[in-house]
Amino acid sequence: MTFRTASRALAAATAALALTLVTGCTGDEAAGNDPERVDVVAGFYPLQFLAERIGGDAVAVTNLARPGAEPHDLELNPRQVSQIIDAELIVFLHGFQPAVDEAIEQHGGDHAFDVAEVEPLLDATAGGHDHDHGDGHDHDDEHADEVSDGAKDPHVWLDPTRLATIGDKLAERLGAVDPDHADEYTQRAAALRTELEKLDTEFTEGLKTCQRREIVVSHTAFGYLAQRYQLEQIGITGLTPEDEPSPQRLAAVTEEAREHGATTIFFETLVSPKVAETIAREVGAQTAVLDPLEGLSAENGGDYLSVMRTNLESLRTALSCS
Ligand SMILES: [Zn+2]
Ligand SMILES: [Zn+2]
Repeated sequence: MTFRTASRALAAATAALALTLVTGCTGDEAAGNDPERVDVVAGFYPLQFLAERIGGDAVAVTNLARPGAEPHDLELNPRQVSQIIDAELIVFLHGFQPAVDEAIEQHGGDHAFDVAEVEPLLDATAGGHDHDHGDGHDHDDEHADEVSDGAKDPHVWLDPTRLATIGDKLAERLGAVDPDHADEYTQRAAALRTELEKLDTEFTEGLKTCQRREIVVSHTAFGYLAQRYQLEQIGITGLTPEDEPSPQRLAAVTEEAREHGATTIFFETLVSPKVAETIAREVGAQTAVLDPLEGLSAENGGDYLSVMRTNLESLRTALSCS
């Protein structure tokens, strides 16, 4: 056995062990209902963040998505389906995680809080890059044409003001489930709103004067961010990260990046940066992370607010904002 194969075998064994440990932990954590607290199940990270911040110590929140895993394509194991059945409140976003939608349809009864019902979603085509350059060359966002009619963009949490509104509605709902703590929920939602509005002001100010407004991103997760702060999103792939871009799409995005003088091609923490790197090489740009916050990356110690502030700094650098 060469050194290389030996170290590979060791790495594989370590990974298997780590997986066992992680699985073991998750089992303990989720054991039993807590009679003292409201059992809340959240579909993915930003909803967990909301539930924890607003619920405080009156709730016990379980996130269905594993840290470091891309949550769009989440599949539920039987234990998670039981968690959905037993939860006092399920916080989810219809249209984002099909497996969760299905489980709630079957078992959610009347204890589900659907974010898509309290905050109207934008059409999937909104925030797409579609413009006339004034030289007779008019190009549509090819991807926009692929989106079926009536499809909605689920990435609503990337507009902090919309997340604040969802938080207010969640506080109301928690208050209905647990009237003894209703005032606390309202107060915590108001405090969170103050923080989110401060973040919103930082984005508005920070992105006011920039040399460019086009962002080339890995999947089209930034429609709400683009709409709120007058940016133009050019997505390499569609609304879900696992769509493989066609060669035509790659060529079109590369041309766009060149045309708009993009200095940065953004990639995400939870999906492979390969395609972004290819385009960046092609146009002589750099790559950087723009985090759609669908989940925290495994090694990330931050939260919604800190990751958004990192995003703002990355945008300011990429777009040469003063
Ligand atoms: Zn997404
Ligand atoms: Zn363009």
